Amino acid sequence: MVVGDISTGTELLVIGGGPGGYAAAIRAGQLGLDATLVEADAYGGTCLNEGCIPSKALIHASGLAHAVEHAESMGIHARADVDLRGLVAWKDGIVDRLTGGVERLCEASGVNLIEGRAEFVDGNTARVAHGGEGQGSESVEFERAVVATGSRPVELPGFEVDGERILDSSDALSLEALPESLCVVGGGYIGMELSTAFAKLGADVTVVEALDDVLPGYGDDATAIVRDRAEELGIEFRRGEAAQGWAEAGDDARVTTETGAGETNSYTAERVLVAVGREPAADTCNLEAVGIEPSEDGSIETDDATRTAAEGVHAVGDVTGEPMLAHAAYREGRVAAEVAAGEPARLDHRAIPAAVFTDPEIGTVGLDAEGAEAEGFDPVVGEMPMGSSGRALTLGAETGFVRIVADAETGFVLGARIVGPDASELIAEVGLAIEMGARLGDIAGTVHVHPTLSEAVAEAAANAQGTALHTPNR
Ligand code: FAD
Ligand code: NAD
Repeated sequence: MVVGDISTGTELLVIGGGPGGYAAAIRAGQLGLDATLVEADAYGGTCLNEGCIPSKALIHASGLAHAVEHAESMGIHARADVDLRGLVAWKDGIVDRLTGGVERLCEASGVNLIEGRAEFVDGNTARVAHGGEGQGSESVEFERAVVATGSRPVELPGFEVDGERILDSSDALSLEALPESLCVVGGGYIGMELSTAFAKLGADVTVVEALDDVLPGYGDDATAIVRDRAEELGIEFRRGEAAQGWAEAGDDARVTTETGAGETNSYTAERVLVAVGREPAADTCNLEAVGIEPSEDGSIETDDATRTAAEGVHAVGDVTGEPMLAHAAYREGRVAAEVAAGEPARLDHRAIPAAVFTDPEIGTVGLDAEGAEAEGFDPVVGEMPMGSSGRALTLGAETGFVRIVADAETGFVLGARIVGPDASELIAEVGLAIEMGARLGDIAGTVHVHPTLSEAVAEAAANAQGTALHTPNR
């Protein structure tokens, strides 16, 4: 540890206490490094405070309320009276529990926690300004550093977020009353997840998406299933229309849009949720002082060991650009700490899964058939429709499929796309298969509990081999 005429010294300074930063700090502590984690706002970052966890709480609760009211075919006749304040209080309780847990886990690993905004002064010194008037600041001298400053919502010109009429995702997750109508600008991850939740709670939802379809990159058949279900829930889609601006219209906002052909339309709603992407927050810690210049999209470039262009400075999580996912940030944080401790850790992006928590969910990992071909494989594809899964039928959720892609010659599993209940959980099995270099026979030959959704994964693998029992073989 280097301590001179300044107040603190540390072997590893971590800037930002979200999934990337706290994973790096805890792992560093486990490895015996003297680590210091600086957080400007709230431990747990976007993920725990206003992202993954609160959104999944809202999605689950809204799904529960909706399911109870729509179970007549199972002989259940019930009404769900949703008290949004109560729901939000429950969600806040989960957030408090988890963010408190982050602090305790850091302390248990010997991590020194500092609350404040850190800025680099030079390649070995950072200054931390404590929040609030008269709180002062302190210097931290470091040997290595991890930048984990995360991301923030992209601002859409003409839609200044005021938390009242125009909301960002954080506002939408803490509403005290259900809006009668909601216009969602952007049909990506946040737009699709939250529009589904609000529609299930009873709001009248319109989604405006600039591209031809929602959830870009997830594949036509997967997005069509999710969009059809969303339409069944009453969500109206305005695809191929970019939101241009809005104006007050009585008690509502009137959102104007323009199609690619220049046609204009307008939609009124009590509230407008803007969810048009997130951008790296690479401007919060004076990166110039260590000689890092963000790339054109604002992200920090790193190598497969999370190293930046600056000697001894790593970057992890959303600030390094796509994929902006919490589990990618956790992994990168771990790798950064291990590399900082001298271990030969490396990142491998081949098996990073992604999931959309819509109804039904979508889970993906690895390559699809086109991607496999592009990488020189001769792919074989196996599929199991959810409608042939006994478990899916008992859940009243028979829409979707499991599709597995493997190398025809060797049987090595290359990827999967799953659409259906708990696709976000099911995809883990295929991720493990890719990670371990498993073949189709390893998944198909593993005995899965009956009746479970995971059997559909095994059946898709068997289908690719021509040995499926519950679906016609290809
Ligand atoms: P963040 O979580 O953004 O944390 C960065 C932290 O750094 C913040 O706490 C910030 O205060 C702090 N900070 C910034 N600058 C400084 C500074 N100079 N000094 C000190 N502290 C600083 N991902 C998923 O994988 N699954 C999901 O289901 C999912 N759902 C989401 C839902 C929503 C509504 C949103 C908005 C995001 C969602 N995400 C999801 C994305 C996920 O939240 C991010 O990928 C993840 O939080 C990134 O972690 P991070 O550590 O890189 O950054
Ligand atoms: P996104 O990039 O997923 O989607 C933004 C959408 O907005 C795109 O489809 C884009 O075409 C559209 N758009 C842009 N400008 C528009 C305009 N003027 N009018 C209409 N549509 C417009 O971004 P997001 O939904 O804001 O989510 C941000 C990030 O948060 C995601 O990329 C993801 O990394 C993360 N996230 C992940 C999850 C998850 O893992 N389940 C959930 C939520 C958020």
